[in-house]
Amino acid sequence: MNTLRQHFPIFQHMDENVHGYQWVYLDSSATTQKPQNVIQAVNQFYLSGNANVHRASHDVARKSTEAYEQARKRVAAFLRASSHEEIVWTKGATEGMNLIASSITSDMLNGGKRILISATEHHANIVPWQRLAERFGMSIDVIPVDEKGVWKLNDGLSLLGENTAIVALGHVSNALGNINPISPFIDKAKEVGALTIIDGCQAVAHFPVDVTALDCDFYLFSGHKVFAPMGVGVLYGKADVLNALQPYQVGGEMILDVEYTHSSYRDAPYKFETGTPNVPAILGLAEAIQFVQTHFDEIQRVESELYEYLLESISAIKGLELWGDNTRSVGVVSFTSSTINNQDLGILLNEQNIALRVGHHCAMPLMKTLGISGTLRISLSCYNTKDDIDRVIAAISRALSHEN
Ligand code: PLP
Repeated sequence: MNTLRQHFPIFQHMDENVHGYQWVYLDSSATTQKPQNVIQAVNQFYLSGNANVHRASHDVARKSTEAYEQARKRVAAFLRASSHEEIVWTKGATEGMNLIASSITSDMLNGGKRILISATEHHANIVPWQRLAERFGMSIDVIPVDEKGVWKLNDGLSLLGENTAIVALGHVSNALGNINPISPFIDKAKEVGALTIIDGCQAVAHFPVDVTALDCDFYLFSGHKVFAPMGVGVLYGKADVLNALQPYQVGGEMILDVEYTHSSYRDAPYKFETGTPNVPAILGLAEAIQFVQTHFDEIQRVESELYEYLLESISAIKGLELWGDNTRSVGVVSFTSSTINNQDLGILLNEQNIALRVGHHCAMPLMKTLGISGTLRISLSCYNTKDDIDRVIAAISRALSHEN
């Protein structure tokens, strides 16, 4: 029995049948649904708390500033950061990655000329590094993968050496769901003095993350992947490393003092937070984290039970190839069929009101490496049910039987 689903009102609102089918949502890696407490926090802000933060002295503004800073503390505790001053608000992981890549100074590179990423990265953790590489005349190394898309650990580690200045890795692959072995890379990066940046977008909703234990320099994620509203993200950075970065953008809020000809900036995290932030989304994120913290054991129990069931059911269908490492996954099955192309199968599933993702999943280089154009991706979350899995399995089986 899944008691978590009842917290997500969308499943009552999407109740009507389409073509006689109930809605099945299996696209949580793209974005998660929102629990009631998150929706309520956003509504409540506009209904009875709307005032800008860090500006006015009136009561409503003071309250909204307090709640906003309280949210920062909650995120710091969630990630086990040592201080809330290590948490920067962004609009998402893509902005966070661009912030780091645009703000690194040559001093922070320690003379190193190489950037290490992996073959499974999301474009958001590739393209910003290409620009940094152009800016400083650097080159990019890539941790290779086996024929299923799983990191080759030793080959990857052998690429990390004295000349490596940056190691930017996904904690979990969004395309395949693999939980990646990031720790040996962080440890080795420390030995050579390279900066470590971990993209935690697909991790934080599924298992607890402890940035202090990981000892990475940066960790980032998007709120909407962890039950929070869109348009808010988190960049964690160790205080000294954050303060070494140049401001990403300049203007109001991030300043200490302004003259007509020059200005001085505040310390991190504020020096990266220019202009009016997305306050209701940030308050929603605090509620999302509260939801996760309250239910984490149950979330993990439900997801692992569902994943086991999904894996068993889908493995029994002949003619499908499963990609990635299904022994270390966050509840994702990425697959292709030998008889029907991805888009056609996606259309057939959509006609039965089943939502999943078809395509390259913003990981084009990985798909090219695997020699495929893309996959279909089923991604589970704590609100899914065995019934959802039965529906998608029956629909895939039916589609394949018509092809044969
Ligand atoms: N990194 C990973 C692993 C992702 O899955 C995503 C989103 O799909 C991103 C980065 C980019 O997130 P956003 O589009 O919210 O900035």
